[in-house]
Amino acid sequence: MTAKTILIADDNLQIRMLVKAALRPLGCEVAEAVDGEQALEKAIAQPPDVLLLDVTMPKLDGFEVLSFLRKRPETAGLKVIMLTTAAQKTDLKRGVELGCDDYVVKPFEPRALRETVERALGE
Ligand SMILES: [Mg+2]
Repeated sequence: MTAKTILIADDNLQIRMLVKAALRPLGCEVAEAVDGEQALEKAIAQPPDVLLLDVTMPKLDGFEVLSFLRKRPETAGLKVIMLTTAAQKTDLKRGVELGCDDYVVKPFEPRALRETVERALGE
């Protein structure tokens, strides 16, 4: 059985490290993207089982990335979990409208993040 793959797209190195640490027990293969453009490129080149997508990123924001992905038949069904902050509650609505599967509010509890990702992987 091949390992599940997760793409972490966040421009903040520390967040990417925290996410990686939280997900380590799942034994998934993890790739990273440092901005929206890279997130889109990587998600298209090698669609992950789950994409963790930050909202506020340079070049393309998380909403733009999500909307591009949903428009392409090859990536329309990709599992996408938005990473948002408590201050961006209205952003959540937009993410849901654009078709994200779930969301995690930063700062997150490692266990809660892991459970959300596990749920998405199991669907
Ligand atoms: Mg950000």
